Amino acid sequence: MKQCAICKEQKELKEFYKDNRHKDGHYSICKKCHKDKVSNYKTTSLKDRYINKAIERARRKYPGVTFNKEEIYFMANEYCPRCGNKLSYGYNSKYSPTLIIQQDGSIAIICRTCRNI
Ligand SMILES: [Zn+2]
Ligand SMILES: [Zn+2]
Repeated sequence: MKQCAICKEQKELKEFYKDNRHKDGHYSICKKCHKDKVSNYKTTSLKDRYINKAIERARRKYPGVTFNKEEIYFMANEYCPRCGNKLSYGYNSKYSPTLIIQQDGSIAIICRTCRNI
């Protein structure tokens, strides 16, 4: 038996999806909660999630700077202004958008690859 991290119910292991990254080989949340989570995810668009994440990271990196989500959402173009590659919001993409503050103090959204140069 294993306790689900979300609903806190004790359930049989078969009620959990397999995941090798976990010590017991199963996710910490049960199949049912997993489903709820996934459907929640789908209602928020990928772009939305990525922008939220990028802002979160930027806030940690640049404490004291205010980031306006709407403005940034609007700013996030389809293409990276540096390399011209299409920004993609897929999982672990080389071109997922990242927020940076440029030397002149303005905010830019560039791809992950350019950020690492
Ligand atoms: Zn659960
Ligand atoms: Zn780029």
